[in-house]
Amino acid sequence: MICREMEERIALHVSGDLETGAAAEVDEHLARCLACRTLAAELKANRESMIGLPVGEIREADYAELRARLDESRRRERALRRWALAAAVSAAVLGGSALVRFLDPARHPAPAAARVETPAPVERAVRVPAPPPMTVARKPAAPRKTPEAGEPLVVKIVTDDPDIVIVWLVD
Ligand SMILES: [Zn+2]
Repeated sequence: MICREMEERIALHVSGDLETGAAAEVDEHLARCLACRTLAAELKANRESMIGLPVGEIREADYAELRARLDESRRRERALRRWALAAAVSAAVLGGSALVRFLDPARHPAPAAARVETPAPVERAVRVPAPPPMTVARKPAAPRKTPEAGEPLVVKIVTDDPDIVIVWLVD
């Protein structure tokens, strides 16, 4: 039988929470009581297996890394969705060949996106609300020189996101 009055003290002893004097008393009891010794061994084993678990023991660095990984995967997911959106607009609006440029914001800060120019006879910028970019309005044909045969019509679509510029090349 386990000595009831010892149980709590054994538990405290196993976790190192007893003062030296009390710990010595428990050790003394354990030396002559097999039941309590067994209990102590079980508690110790439990405690060690618990300590092996990461729950509640996540270091700050691990947490930061985990967060970073989550953010990264979310960012990729968003980028993919935008890409799909751009492709959908491409298919819906123009039958011509479309060149979708996805600019890395790190290498191309926002103003740089506006500077991505393709020498072209015609260039139009259309603002599209990022989600959902349903309306891509084409300006009425303003008086301008007609693109010569063979010259591709280039339409640049600027989304609300400065790191996305969609460039159309229409044959
Ligand atoms: Zn005992």
